[in-house]
Amino acid sequence: MNDVNFAGTVVQPSGDVDVRGDAPLLRTPGFVNAHSHAFQRALRGRVEVRSAQHADDNFWSWREAMYQDANRFTPAHMEAVATWCYRDMVEAGYTAVAEFHYVHHDGDEQHAGAFAHALVRAAQRVGIRMVLLPTAYARAGAHQPLLPTQRRFGFSSSSRFIEHVRALRMQLGAQCLVGMAVHSVRACPRAWIEDVAAAAQDDDCVLHVHACEQRQELVACANEHAGLTPVGLLHACGALTEKTTLVHATHINEHDIALMAHARSIVCLTPSTERNLGDGLAPIHAMHQASVRLCIGSDSHAVIDPLEELRSLEGHERLRTEKRNVLCAPGQRLTQSLMPMGTSHGCASLGVVADASDHVTFDMPIEGALHGAAAGVDAWMMGGTRVQRVVIGGREVVREGRCVTVDDAALRAQLQEVFRG
Ligand SMILES: [Zn+2]
Repeated sequence: MNDVNFAGTVVQPSGDVDVRGDAPLLRTPGFVNAHSHAFQRALRGRVEVRSAQHADDNFWSWREAMYQDANRFTPAHMEAVATWCYRDMVEAGYTAVAEFHYVHHDGDEQHAGAFAHALVRAAQRVGIRMVLLPTAYARAGAHQPLLPTQRRFGFSSSSRFIEHVRALRMQLGAQCLVGMAVHSVRACPRAWIEDVAAAAQDDDCVLHVHACEQRQELVACANEHAGLTPVGLLHACGALTEKTTLVHATHINEHDIALMAHARSIVCLTPSTERNLGDGLAPIHAMHQASVRLCIGSDSHAVIDPLEELRSLEGHERLRTEKRNVLCAPGQRLTQSLMPMGTSHGCASLGVVADASDHVTFDMPIEGALHGAAAGVDAWMMGGTRVQRVVIGGREVVREGRCVTVDDAALRAQLQEVFRG
């Protein structure tokens, strides 16, 4: 972790943040968004209405709205919405994203690939680094075939899915790293999880999986797999390694944490989405204490802001435990403990090495001048300031707070097409 420099003077360690010169600017490494479903950006503003059809609105009723878009979108729609989403990401300071991609085809697996290529084009238009995670999806639940609304997600066998991932990797070459994902222990039977985990290991690529987001998933997993938790099942399937990222890990127990810590697996928390969907509160402090590396994602994109995700990790733990500065060791500042979660742990989750040519410049809050740089950095972490500039791979993608790589008028016209009618 670097020292903080303020007006050329080292003030004190406060995370991997560099405060530069007399100008009130603060420069950080690029933030890593380790969990995205770009097409869900389209839902923002359309799902905050209490559904008339449900006694309770919850994750499962939200999912119905999400499935409507997943079944309606063409690859051109996907590209437009993903461009919008990735543009928001760079303007917020994200420089890399893991795209957890399960809308594979139009209902016919022979046509798989068009949506994946649309996502890659969107990332290239914006200039964000992307790791594509084609996602295995086999069924609606234990012993239940895919629902009609899930047909676009499915492959007829794990081997067909793995062939598809490897073909995509060949087609994309140096354009984009391709890892793998298992949607969840609900959406894949045990044999699929074992096959995909083995393929990821053979290919030496990262493996991501949604785990323990909803209590319903735990009950179904225990019933299907002789009492195992989702984390226990992933462990039994060889899917828990240091290249594994478990997304959410909300409803987990101490044994799950011990398994994840032993395997050196990473956990991606998406607090703004977990809050938006009413998922629950993860035992973040317990995972952090067990040295499980935590990283962040914007997931459904209800909010796209790395600082909001980071401060929410701490904020949710404060609400849950009724304490303050929960994720800091004694004597440590909050930014010190949160910055690796936004940067280096995210890189590990994506299977990439941080690139020093990726960086973000923010305004320094006035507290930096009033109380010194370290307090200024913590004020920035808790209150946020405007992103001024984002550079990815040496290329300026955000200047004076605005993404300069995307033609706004063209994108607006494309989005109007998506929402026409
Ligand atoms: Zn997700």
